[in-house]
Amino acid sequence: MLVEIAKPRFDIDLAIAYATEANVAGRAVYGRAAAYLVAEAADRLEDATRLAAQHGLRLRVFDAFRPAEAQWLLWESRPDPEFFADPRKGSPHSRGVAVDVTLIDGAGKALDMGTEFDAFTPLSHHGRVDISPTAQKNRLLLLGLMTAAGWDYYRNEWWHYQLFQPRRYPLLSDSAAGTAMMPKQP
Ligand SMILES: [Zn+2]
Repeated sequence: MLVEIAKPRFDIDLAIAYATEANVAGRAVYGRAAAYLVAEAADRLEDATRLAAQHGLRLRVFDAFRPAEAQWLLWESRPDPEFFADPRKGSPHSRGVAVDVTLIDGAGKALDMGTEFDAFTPLSHHGRVDISPTAQKNRLLLLGLMTAAGWDYYRNEWWHYQLFQPRRYPLLSDSAAGTAMMPKQP
């Protein structure tokens, strides 16, 4: 049902933040660093990859499908809608239709986007003119190629892209999706 974002089909760098301790929750939420999307979103991501390659760039994915179980764990760590979607409402990530991305150059270095991924500051919003001109340009490049590939953007997070009308797709748990991303219970 979900497509794994992996080689050889996807020439994409994975830096799955929730599989490490370097995230807002401060601990690994996923047992496995993997990225999955519904087929329509996977196709859109492949298109974005192709557009980026025209400029000698690749995509780095921080998060894609976020199992409903993980959304609950994150919510419990910080029950604040400013940071996480209320799991009862659900995040487009838990529908497998959202992706958090940045651009990397030929050497694997991330382009300057003005803030880090998941920096919950107004500086992460699109349209900021108080970040460097280079960072503004890089954000516009990412916005342009993701939009051209068919993605909708989220104005408060430069890294977040999702399909239009995400509620066409159901919220999915790890077990329902068969993604085996959550840590095994001891
Ligand atoms: Zn996101």
